[in-house]
Amino acid sequence: MNDTIAAISTTLGVGAISIIRVSGENAISIVNQIFKGKDLETVDTHTIHYGHIIDQEEEIDEVLVSVMKAPKTFTTEDVVEINCHGGISTTNKVLELVLNHGARLAEPGEFTKRAFLNGRIDLTQAESVMDLINAKNESKRKVAMKSLDGYVSNIIRNLRQEILELLASIEVNIDYPEYEDIEVMTNDKIKPKMKEIKEKLKKIITESENGKVLTNGIKTIIIGRPNVGKSSILNRLLDEEKAIVTDIEGTTRDTVEGSITIHGVALNLMDTAGIRDTNDIVEKIGVEKSLNLIQEADLVILVLNNNEELTKEDQKILNYCQDKKTIVVINKNDLERKINMEEISYKNIIYTNTIDLNGIDSLKEKIVELFNLNELEQQDYTYLSNVRQISLAKESYSILEEVEKGIEEEIPIDMIEIDIKRSWEKLGEIIGETYTEELIDQLFSQFCLGK
Ligand code: GDP
Repeated sequence: MNDTIAAISTTLGVGAISIIRVSGENAISIVNQIFKGKDLETVDTHTIHYGHIIDQEEEIDEVLVSVMKAPKTFTTEDVVEINCHGGISTTNKVLELVLNHGARLAEPGEFTKRAFLNGRIDLTQAESVMDLINAKNESKRKVAMKSLDGYVSNIIRNLRQEILELLASIEVNIDYPEYEDIEVMTNDKIKPKMKEIKEKLKKIITESENGKVLTNGIKTIIIGRPNVGKSSILNRLLDEEKAIVTDIEGTTRDTVEGSITIHGVALNLMDTAGIRDTNDIVEKIGVEKSLNLIQEADLVILVLNNNEELTKEDQKILNYCQDKKTIVVINKNDLERKINMEEISYKNIIYTNTIDLNGIDSLKEKIVELFNLNELEQQDYTYLSNVRQISLAKESYSILEEVEKGIEEEIPIDMIEIDIKRSWEKLGEIIGETYTEELIDQLFSQFCLGK
């Protein structure tokens, strides 16, 4: 693994400077061969040197070269960074020279992968490097920084330590039952400790899921039959905030019409008008596209017309959204009530009319309530930051639930111990204490080149 790798670490394009990063055992000697200036093999670590990159006699560029010797570097290996003039031709030429002198072109994410494999950072920190690079808003940046600084890893490590202590005391009992001065571990004694650990993990999961809302926003779909007032509600929500945003990233399927910010959280609104061109939503309710839209949404705003009786189509949509976080909006409440509310078994119901804006504030308040947005603001951005981490935490949690059940059912303690250990291992996977080659390859391949 310890060959020397190189890549352009800045975006390749026209710019003032570009950086070519080289890491590995021969990083310094390779760059030294193409550098006219000080002898880089003799300079102190963490120093910068002015000189020229040369191709035999020809001066290719005027550069600054940083020399950072192992182990206090990004990869823990010798690292040299060449700051050359930006521009495609120069940058490529410098890289080419580095490669010709013995370095290999790095794979995407390979520098960070080395930092991980060499033990400088754990897996959550490695992932946060990528998150930081990709962060498109303040919340995302804050979450990534917290994780990079190791706060997330620490929470997981502390929890693992508690589980380990529990495991140790169980094991002593199993291995040395004859020792009288050892506290005898019984299911009853494990129970309160188990409960405490489980609650802590639950809190981490809940806060992380809330945190996801903070960083990714709430994907909201407005659905309902034609003419019930979907577009009017969307426009009222957007108009009032005067914050129409059209360039929001989503999957190609999404048609984000706009976004408003409630308590610092982006509510990304998708009108099913976005799929109007494939005919209206109700006729196409069976079509995968519309169903997926509902499935993928964090919130469904289901609009019904106060002035009409429920139709079969309304029923269909009501049935379909039952398992989703849904707010039923009874619109056109300025008109006579013809809808039979007894037929609607939803908990979250808001009455609106888009003419004098009646109910629009209540709708927003409901959203705040459903997503705990009031509390979110006080949180400290220490979350598990991606699906991989959260699902491992959930797996670990459900194993702990099994353990708790096992304790209730008086299952022998050595059997229970096996499950506790499994949950400990799952938590270990979050920070990369245990991992598979495939996972690591897959994960780092998502990085950009040169990182
Ligand atoms: P969509 O097809 O569900 O998007 O419905 P629209 O928002 O286009 O509204 C359909 C019609 O209902 C329009 O003529 C609106 O002016 C009208 N409308 C929308 N909201 C209300 C409301 O709260 N009260 C009344 N009386 N009419 C409304």
